[in-house]
Amino acid sequence: MSQIKYKSTRGGQVDISPSYAIVQGIAKDGGLFVPQEIPKLDCSLEELKDMTYQELAYHIMKNYLSDFTEEELRDCINKAYDKKFDDKKIAPLVKKDGVYFLELFHGPTLAFKDMALSILPYLLKTAAKKLDIKKEIVILTATSGDTGKAALEGFADVEGTKIIVFFPQDGVSEIQKRQMTTQTGDNTYVIGIEGNFDDAQNGVKQIFGDVEFNNYLAENNYMLSSANSINIGRLVPQIVYYFYAYFQMVQEGEISLGDIANVVVPTGNFGNILAAFYAKQMGLPIGKLICASNDNKVLYDFFNTGKYDKDREFILTISPSMDILISSNLERLLYHISNGDTNKTKELMESLKTDGNYEITQEMKEKLTSFYGGYASQEETIKKIKELFDKTAYLIDTHTAVAYSVYKAYLEKTGDDNKAIIASTASPYKFTNSVMKAIDSSYEAYSDFELIEKMNALTKVDIPVGIKDIDKRPIRHKTVCKKDEMKSAVEKILIK
Ligand SMILES: *Cc1c(COP(=O)(O)O)cnc(C)c1O
Repeated sequence: MSQIKYKSTRGGQVDISPSYAIVQGIAKDGGLFVPQEIPKLDCSLEELKDMTYQELAYHIMKNYLSDFTEEELRDCINKAYDKKFDDKKIAPLVKKDGVYFLELFHGPTLAFKDMALSILPYLLKTAAKKLDIKKEIVILTATSGDTGKAALEGFADVEGTKIIVFFPQDGVSEIQKRQMTTQTGDNTYVIGIEGNFDDAQNGVKQIFGDVEFNNYLAENNYMLSSANSINIGRLVPQIVYYFYAYFQMVQEGEISLGDIANVVVPTGNFGNILAAFYAKQMGLPIGKLICASNDNKVLYDFFNTGKYDKDREFILTISPSMDILISSNLERLLYHISNGDTNKTKELMESLKTDGNYEITQEMKEKLTSFYGGYASQEETIKKIKELFDKTAYLIDTHTAVAYSVYKAYLEKTGDDNKAIIASTASPYKFTNSVMKAIDSSYEAYSDFELIEKMNALTKVDIPVGIKDIDKRPIRHKTVCKKDEMKSAVEKILIK
């Protein structure tokens, strides 16, 4: 197999091996690692179409992780996609109201982040071993809810690693908080901070950038690493499920092999939809890539004008995992649509940093024709949850509902009759409060935990084990610190 190499989107590092890119996480010049060329499938769709999730994952991921042996990669895949997913299919496709919901929330934490974070620990360990890194890897993460829990669950009891998660003490939902504070595993540490998500994020960035502190940790046999979505090790596993969804439609006779299908993705940091773009470049017959935003509609504006402008009001919505004004992974798309022009990409990112905005060239704009940007207001999103439930008795979460709303509007506007796959990114059980209130305002009277039972009574969908009796589990993590005490909190954990 040919060896794939990675480079920084800003040009500062080239010819980097997959293992090195995973361990390093972010490039030294602040750019993100991208494959120097997006690989094409090395076999036909016909050969892939009846594979299990695990088998397919191997055939897709090997193209990106060419320095892993077959045995190593298969081992990572088998450890990640096992019984911790509550559906044998891992990512089942469900047809409702004429569209296909790709349920990406059957992992342990009920959000699509599990699709990548259940395998990242194994990829990272294997990569570190290849590079002969003997230090214990310490994952440091700041979270606004979903990522932290998925990373904790992924790294819990993984030998040779520790994970430390900081979350804003008063800035996550009750269910999200309880999911984290009840986390098991001897190598897991969860700390609430007195501050907001930005404070947590800044604190973590400062620790990563503190050379002296990192040297001190190295002397004590520790190495810091990151589990957020800029790591190429999170992007690659996400490409798999777009192929898998397409093949499920073929198996069910909804399309023939080779037919075009559109995908619709509720988007925040642009990681999930970028994986769909990679799938398309590899040879999967995807038509439109429909990028759905909530009221924080920077991406909608970008796709419709070619101008990215982050200077605007930050709106807190009922789809919090999409409340984001700087979509980090968009940098990778800029690199690809500029034909790999690292100077151009760097210039645009610098403009974003200094001026808060940038505008792409006409030539770059012309490369975006397969993307469609749409957004749904909170009001519209709530309406669509109820509409779909009344029609089909299928309950979707607030993020998926943004995508469903955008798709409905897209259909009305374009009449596009290709079949569409909607990425369903979270279980409604994770956002009981907003989802149940969308169905009937009288549910307002109940707590988030009580609403788990109410949702079960309403839908008859089993309560996922990940949150079953969550309010009765022992709370294992009670540490709270001030925002300027994060470094000493890390030191206290690692160096006793
Ligand atoms: C993270 C997340 C998203 C956004 O995904 P990106 O890859 O950041 O665009 C959407 N929905 C849910 C439920 C999420 O947790």
